[in-house]
Amino acid sequence: MFNLDELLRENIKRLVPYSSARDEFKGEARVFLDANENSLGSPLTKWYNRYPDPLQWKVKEKLSVVKGVAPQHIFLGNGSDECIDVLIRAFCEPGIDNIIIVPPTYGMYEVSANINNVAVKKVPLTPAYQLDLPAIEEAVDDNTKMIFLCSPNNPTGNSLDRDDVEVILNNYFGLVVMDEAYINFSRQRSFVQELEDYPNLVVLQTLSKAWGLAALRVGMAFASEAIINIMNKIKPPYNINQASQELVLKALDEVEQVNEMIRVLVTERTRLEQELPGLTVVKHVYPSDANFLLVKVTDAHGIYQYLLDKGIVVRDRSNVILCEGCLRVTVGTEKENDELLNALKTYAV
Ligand SMILES: *Cc1c(COP(=O)(O)O)cnc(C)c1O
Repeated sequence: MFNLDELLRENIKRLVPYSSARDEFKGEARVFLDANENSLGSPLTKWYNRYPDPLQWKVKEKLSVVKGVAPQHIFLGNGSDECIDVLIRAFCEPGIDNIIIVPPTYGMYEVSANINNVAVKKVPLTPAYQLDLPAIEEAVDDNTKMIFLCSPNNPTGNSLDRDDVEVILNNYFGLVVMDEAYINFSRQRSFVQELEDYPNLVVLQTLSKAWGLAALRVGMAFASEAIINIMNKIKPPYNINQASQELVLKALDEVEQVNEMIRVLVTERTRLEQELPGLTVVKHVYPSDANFLLVKVTDAHGIYQYLLDKGIVVRDRSNVILCEGCLRVTVGTEKENDELLNALKTYAV
């Protein structure tokens, strides 16, 4: 059975979290002399001299409307990368516990585990880039605290079969972390509406991709209130800065414009999917539910360097398991995509 208390590290269970001035006094006051800020302001602007809301309630309230998830089920991180790190630090005892990842997948799960001296068990996807359920079952042991799944997956671009994910959610009693960084480019249903059914589910999303706000560093974790409370307990107190909180609040009013951008990018993705296979250098274009394409080419290193010489940088994924000979290409603007196609047309084989 799933038991959050048993999953949690002992020291985190016992931890007395840092209590900031903003935690201890939340009311209205005229004179703030509690946090050692500079009451005069800053030469740059008078607006940023106060510490921001540690729990970002205004942002969460608005997000809750956009996502259909109550604010107390939302954690905000300095990018979803911070959510990944916080989860590992809360639940994985260094040198003892392990996580499972399913390569080829996003690199930060492994790096974060390595930084925290947490072992990583790798269960490769099948050649069709789907979950190998028997191998995952085999890999799980008593110290496996979480399984990271990414759908749509980076760098392959495809979505994982929903039924397979549900099998894991129903049969594995550690945490299942579903990274949905690219969900807005997909027709697949997000797992955020399934939190009631699965107390072991954590869904990660980000403002860095579809929302176009990578520089603000805001990622989201959606989970049970119990998991969110644990994450809040160990995060740095002011992990989302005031400027980011303000800009995100504004951005969340523009859902319609974001959806329009997503339509444009998906149209461009479809165009690249149609035009790339006609080029002599392209051997295969993998189907994508994301804002990038995994493209198998005749000579990945050569073409990567050739594009770079023309000022176009793509990602060489040819050394990654199951991605031999592949480049990962982000869908750009119409003009950028034209440039890419034209450059590839003139590559001398
Ligand atoms: C880009 C990406 C992220 C990073 O998100 P940030 O919120 O910018 O930290 C997370 N997961 C996957 C799969 C990504 O591709």
